[in-house]
Amino acid sequence: MTSYRYPGEQIILALTLFLVLAVIAVTAVATLCGSALFVMVMLVVSFVLNRSHHNELIESAHPVTPQTEPALANLVGDCAARLQAGPVGTFVAPGNILNAYTFGLVKPQILVVYAGVFRIMDADELRFIIGHELGHVSLGHTWLNSLVGGMAGIPSPYLAAVVLYFAFRWWNRSCEYSADRAGLLACGKPEKAASALIKLAGGASALRSAQGWQQALHQIEAEDDHLENNLRAMLSTHPMTVRRLDALRRYAASPEYHRLQDQINHVHPI
Ligand SMILES: [Zn+2]
Repeated sequence: MTSYRYPGEQIILALTLFLVLAVIAVTAVATLCGSALFVMVMLVVSFVLNRSHHNELIESAHPVTPQTEPALANLVGDCAARLQAGPVGTFVAPGNILNAYTFGLVKPQILVVYAGVFRIMDADELRFIIGHELGHVSLGHTWLNSLVGGMAGIPSPYLAAVVLYFAFRWWNRSCEYSADRAGLLACGKPEKAASALIKLAGGASALRSAQGWQQALHQIEAEDDHLENNLRAMLSTHPMTVRRLDALRRYAASPEYHRLQDQINHVHPI
């Protein structure tokens, strides 16, 4: 009862399906080639930006060497040895900013610590901060961030671009938890890792008095009580301090941390 079918209907259907598949294949290949090209462009842009950043830094920052800053060079070398981070170039940048960062696509990567950090941190807290940054270097976050971070900008439909943005931020925050663990392993003192994070969040006012310290603690503890803060945290490269402190506390209580810390202390005692 189907012999009345118009001749060629099925062939036309087969041809149509073939064309649909061909269009999908061509689009996929074009997207793949476009994305590969984008990654290559990002790589070149990263190299150029890194080089210009490095040149700017050399003009404004102070290089740390065993001759210019023996104590700091020794501390960085010690932390690098404990974390097996390999050689890094260290610079102290002027300014009261409470921050440190690393950059560079190839070894030796560059560690930059702002002068403000030295004004408020003691030697153990400094070990945590430098260890945190060296953790980013050892775990490959420094070069990955330049390269993979750029990939978040791959031209994509609006919703996909939002998904990529959130995914990369999520990865950024997970890197921070890993780097905090490295900082703890470098300094070996959970209470100093915690006080360094509290000082970074509370700033100079946390140090002025016992009351200032309590106020900073109170603010940190209340951070995740508000929905607005929780939403903002999803867009941030860094987790909230309260979560970093909790994560560090849990890691410091784990057998895994004690095993690794004992191993590091045995080879490179502080
Ligand atoms: Zn970090």
